[in-house]
Amino acid sequence: MKSAYSNLHERLRALAQNLWWTWHPEVISLFTDLDPHLWRQVDHNPIAFMKKITPEKIEERASELVLHSRINYAFRRMNEYMERNKTWGFMHCGNLNNRPVVYFSAEFGLHESLPIYSGGLGILAGDHLKSASDMGIPLIGVGLLYQQGYFSQRLNAEGWQEEEYIDLDITQLPLQPVTGARGKPIIVRIDTRSGPIHARSWKLQVGRARLFLLDSNVEANSPEDRQLTSRLYGGDHRLRIRQELLLGIGGARLVQELNIFPGVLHLNEGHSAFAILEEIRRTMEYDQIPFHRAHRRVSLYTVFTTHTPVAAGHDRFSPELVEDNVGIFREKLGLSQDDFMALGRVNPQDKSELFCMTVLALKSSRRANGVSAIHGTVSRLMWNPLWPSLPEEKVPIGHITNGVHVLSWLAPQMYQLFETRLGQDWPTRMVHPDIWAKVNEIDDGELWETHQSLKMRLIRFVRRRLLMQAKRMGHHDTIKHIDQILDPNILTIGCARRFATYKRGDLILSQPERLAKLIEHSRQPIQIIFAGKAHPRDDEGKRLLQKIARFSYSRAYIRRIVFVENYDYNVARHLVQGVDVWLNNPRRPLEACGTSGQKVVLNGGLNLSVLDGWWHEAYDGSNGFAIGHGGMHNDPEVQYQRDAEYLYETLEKEVIPLYYEKDASGIHHRWIARMKHAMESLGWRFNADRMVKNYAERFYLPAASATSTETE
Ligand SMILES: *Cc1c(COP(=O)(O)O)cnc(C)c1O
Repeated sequence: MKSAYSNLHERLRALAQNLWWTWHPEVISLFTDLDPHLWRQVDHNPIAFMKKITPEKIEERASELVLHSRINYAFRRMNEYMERNKTWGFMHCGNLNNRPVVYFSAEFGLHESLPIYSGGLGILAGDHLKSASDMGIPLIGVGLLYQQGYFSQRLNAEGWQEEEYIDLDITQLPLQPVTGARGKPIIVRIDTRSGPIHARSWKLQVGRARLFLLDSNVEANSPEDRQLTSRLYGGDHRLRIRQELLLGIGGARLVQELNIFPGVLHLNEGHSAFAILEEIRRTMEYDQIPFHRAHRRVSLYTVFTTHTPVAAGHDRFSPELVEDNVGIFREKLGLSQDDFMALGRVNPQDKSELFCMTVLALKSSRRANGVSAIHGTVSRLMWNPLWPSLPEEKVPIGHITNGVHVLSWLAPQMYQLFETRLGQDWPTRMVHPDIWAKVNEIDDGELWETHQSLKMRLIRFVRRRLLMQAKRMGHHDTIKHIDQILDPNILTIGCARRFATYKRGDLILSQPERLAKLIEHSRQPIQIIFAGKAHPRDDEGKRLLQKIARFSYSRAYIRRIVFVENYDYNVARHLVQGVDVWLNNPRRPLEACGTSGQKVVLNGGLNLSVLDGWWHEAYDGSNGFAIGHGGMHNDPEVQYQRDAEYLYETLEKEVIPLYYEKDASGIHHRWIARMKHAMESLGWRFNADRMVKNYAERFYLPAASATSTETE
């Protein structure tokens, strides 16, 4: 160990190989200090960075800046982290050590340099992995490596979204090929009636957790199947079912090849539900038992998280598609076509029903959950037909509310402030309310200054991005006035999300004259920063986005309404750390949870949100702002108008006056009190450590004890 990493270059390379660095600002600052321009140019990718800077140059810069001890310290910290055994998991999850949790997800959002996520679902999976690592819970992730990721977004001069697909350079990512006996790459193979699918796989180290990613771009595949893992959520149903075969069956096979016996199968959303079937097949073969017994046994250690109340979010496949792709595998399970289809049908007798991945998962798991209290309720209603004899409240779907990985989303400056008041060890104790109560000891002025400097950082970031956008589009006004775009002394609202219709990204634009008054107010104006992608085939979402883009292009609003292209991890990080207010106005009750508002709270921003998802259980009257009172209407148009009315009213009567109110010494005293109250009342609840702990206590440990008693 010592000799291999004896020089700085080697140590930096070792740091770059484990995504642990992504949530440790002291490592990030090494790269920014070495060469801030290059760091930005390589999109914060340390491996790409190291390829563009020679070891000699690093030595030279490190000496100039006295970086040696900081690099050594970071390296030591990472090794200590990897070896630490005084963790929550070590004390409580002993029986997962030999049989870890295997966590399947179609996307993982870990960092902007690894674009294998599209939005909230992926970011959540990434945060889950990071917190499991921090807490020492034995967990392995399984996903797909998308060669072209989701897509990069640009808008044209008309504000219409255009998608660009860029190939990942695997050599610039911290991926190790997964090898088996004698160092040969492991290839998994799945037979289908239209030819076999092969995949190789890659390992990614995320702190202590390992993430395995399957990749179909191998020579043994047909040209079409080589493209299977090109894009996230692209293609038709056939491509989709083949991707899901790869993720579920391929993923479970890979785990077997590695001699890992899952103590728990955790399916994050239905995409990976075929994993259950491969686990059943293995159990049938291994224990020589028939399908129905193996199904029962595997269900004892399978848990399932559903993520959306939107019907289109649940994959459904026709019998023909299922037979063509899963038919050969079905025969191995000894099931007829009808018996197989029945696994994915709410009513097994109904031959017209499609095969639904969520139904398969619900029928085959020990525990199932939605991702907020309100989403739990909505899911019980939605899936009640699966348990027709039960009243709605008895439907066996509970909830565990999502949380965010705090160190990934907290600004370093805010981290330092917390360290001085909440104590050195606060990151390992963040599920305790008493830790967060100490934010009240932070000086008002100091908190405000920190927040303002983060806001200024956001504004500089946005101006840089806008300048690039404006140059491309030839928007001379923007170029000319770039330094006047956005003002740090103005109430700044952030509004970024996927442009799915139910999220109603344009709600705040629905009464243009009323909005104009707020924006142009002489003493108490507001400004808005928008960002977000629409799905490439969602024209309605694109029209919404275009409406916003056109507002931002119009001369009247050029300084106060902006649209930042290509919403990703990096844009999100800047936004959640710098805004005063985070606006979220989905059509209730369609937001399963929402997590970006939780990231905002940590950094001192306040939520202005419809009482849906997490905000429904989080809002207490003074830790942010509510839009409306949780009402709903059957007619979406009526609900839209009502919520718009509530939104303007809350802005005019509550948010804006409070923001601009100052006490005699010029301090935004009451606003700051609200910032602190938000942190104190929400920080300990809506973080991923709390979420993962809930999963461990309520799902993983009972499931794992089922596997150990069954087989030993
Ligand atoms: C946190 C995050 C999300 C989740 O957003 P919600 O709208 O709160 O569900 C989506 N995309 C990115 C890039 C994020 O960082």
